Amino acid sequence: MSTDSIKTVAVLGAGTMGNGIAHVFARAGYSVILRDVEKRFLDRGLETIAKNLDREVKKEKITAAEKDATLARIQPAIDMASLAAADFAVEAVPEQLDLKTRVLQEADAILRPGVILATNTSSISISQLAAQTSRPSNFIGMHFFNPVPMMALVEVVRGRATSDATFQATMSLCEKLGKKPVGVNDAPGFVSNRVLMPMINEAAYAVMEGVATPEAVDAVMKLGMNHPMGPLELADLIGLDVCVDIMEVLHRGFHDPKYDACPLLKQHIAAGRLGRKSGQGFYKY
Ligand code: NAD
Repeated sequence: MSTDSIKTVAVLGAGTMGNGIAHVFARAGYSVILRDVEKRFLDRGLETIAKNLDREVKKEKITAAEKDATLARIQPAIDMASLAAADFAVEAVPEQLDLKTRVLQEADAILRPGVILATNTSSISISQLAAQTSRPSNFIGMHFFNPVPMMALVEVVRGRATSDATFQATMSLCEKLGKKPVGVNDAPGFVSNRVLMPMINEAAYAVMEGVATPEAVDAVMKLGMNHPMGPLELADLIGLDVCVDIMEVLHRGFHDPKYDACPLLKQHIAAGRLGRKSGQGFYKY
């Protein structure tokens, strides 16, 4: 499967991740069909893309004409039937199994046979989602990171049935976007969350047990390990509820008590302290 034949890419969901994914494809010269369920979600996604492109113009990374050309390559869509024109599709709807299953099945019914269908799920099994479609060999995980236009990594996740051709084509497509793809196999949390979330959880335990303040934990990891952000600042950015949800995915997936979410994380959530998005988590904003 050559990626040269991929000209038009469908992105399902125009939210935080979907608009970023549409942005990077359009910037790399692809025609993008950006699909969401209501016009207001598409308008909000397109506004965000325009704002982020403006920033690139200000930094002189692109010209104003390139910004206009990039936006012109994105066609908003509500009707799923518009996916018939796509040569590649990425799903980025909310992280709910039922919703993802339905959306992937709807997309699978419209996409041409042989077209790769990728999901940006951060925690659901790729093999399980693939099995809901008629194209498990052409199904793959394409785990982008937020903010998509800024972050180099794409964790490319092979399901049990993902073909070598699908994997190679997806890796090479990521490179065409200017990203750094890393191939991994399907397992709970893939690599990114399996390594990151237990670190965040352990940092929360250190605070709960009075070993150190959040500031001290974060300072140790920034100054000693060269992390650009401390684990607790990062947890606040991700959302403490999202962190606990992912710990639960690891716990269910591995049946290992080492993935029990730290009680302090749960207490913060119960008190409405979800992190940046609620104005307070480990820190006040
Ligand atoms: P979001 O809530 O910001 O956006 C989801 C969008 O999907 C919304 O605009 C919603 O209207 C739309 N949508 C709902 N049903 C739809 C349908 N049937 N068809 C098309 N669009 C539909 O969510 P998000 O943060 O962008 O997350 C999307 C996915 O990306 C999730 O699977 C999440 O786990 C994953 N992810 C998120 C992050 C992150 O940092 N936010 C990072 C990596 C992966």
